[in-house]
Amino acid sequence: MTRFIDVHSLVRLVDETGVPEFLKALADALRDDFMRWREFDKKARVASHSHLGVIELMPVADDGAYAFKYVNGHPHNTAVGLPTVMAFGVLAEVDTGYPVLLSELTLTTALRTAATSAMVAQALARPGSRSMALIGNGSQSEFQALAFHALLGIEEVRVFDIDPRATDKLMRHLSVCTPLEVVRAASVADAVRGADIVTTVTAHQGHAVVLAPGMIEPGMHINAVGGDSPGKTELHPDVLRLARVFVEYEAQTRIEGEIQQLPADFPVHELWKVLLGSVPGRESAEQVTVFDSVGFALEDYTALRYIHQLSLERGIGQQIALVPELDDPKDLFGLTASGRRRAVLRRAA
Ligand code: NAD
Repeated sequence: MTRFIDVHSLVRLVDETGVPEFLKALADALRDDFMRWREFDKKARVASHSHLGVIELMPVADDGAYAFKYVNGHPHNTAVGLPTVMAFGVLAEVDTGYPVLLSELTLTTALRTAATSAMVAQALARPGSRSMALIGNGSQSEFQALAFHALLGIEEVRVFDIDPRATDKLMRHLSVCTPLEVVRAASVADAVRGADIVTTVTAHQGHAVVLAPGMIEPGMHINAVGGDSPGKTELHPDVLRLARVFVEYEAQTRIEGEIQQLPADFPVHELWKVLLGSVPGRESAEQVTVFDSVGFALEDYTALRYIHQLSLERGIGQQIALVPELDDPKDLFGLTASGRRRAVLRRAA
């Protein structure tokens, strides 16, 4: 039987674990898996674009497990009452192809994206960073704030969104679940001024300029999350030119990330090399670093494995017949009414 984690089961897993603990455990698992980079069979995700958004399939495998995520990105969805990002995914055994887990991945994507952002910032931001600007206060934003508080010790978050109701919602949530000092900024420039870390997590179908070069101060770490498909970016290209830029999987980020705006030979560094110590991360306190995040399948593989383990430990989730359980693995027809009738007739004869 396949384990099934629906939204309610995932919420129970997160609530029983606690969001900060969930994020920390996930960040540790993500770091471990990124450091096993060479063991994975990797490919850029398969994207199907329309004028309103994108639907993507994200596969990855190592010797033991295969994972894929189905995910969309539709910035106009919130106007029709749907989230911008929705997802689900599967974890399967490589040796047999058996699907061991089918799970919701919408809430999980927000958790894994935030855990990845914070894990990367631990490696790249200036030690002692305490303030973060958070631009874009939609679905992903609480998780980003909580991850940076839990993993880096961020104490002050300066928030801005073009939709003031999104900022109201973020401030309401953060006021009840963290000791974070949350400051409402009047503009992006106001939010960014003096921040150690800048997270951009906006949704806009097009080349937006959320961050311009004049807003960037020496030593900032920029966690650019919202530009994640062709024609959808958040940073002015000159912001990238003045920084040292890090990516998950270069082949995918060249197509989808902020660096799609720059020539194909613009230098970038894959994270796994920094984590393994074979490439330097930040080279000086004054250097500007950018994590050009697009979301790579490995992060969902890690999240699916963590959820599977947690669901077994806590006995949360259901067992479902996603694929047939057969007495005779060559007798698929026996599942049908005709097949069952033939078996009954045979037994009666
Ligand atoms: P959302 O629609 O819930 O929130 C996005 C917010 O951005 C909205 O509140 C909107 O008003 C605001 N916004 C748009 N343009 C802005 C601007 N110029 N300045 C300030 N705010 C602006 O979406 P979400 O689920 O929070 O996702 C945010 C983005 O992150 C999306 O673009 C999504 O595709 C991306 N994303 C990336 C990853 C990754 O791994 N890199 C993972 C998940 C989501």
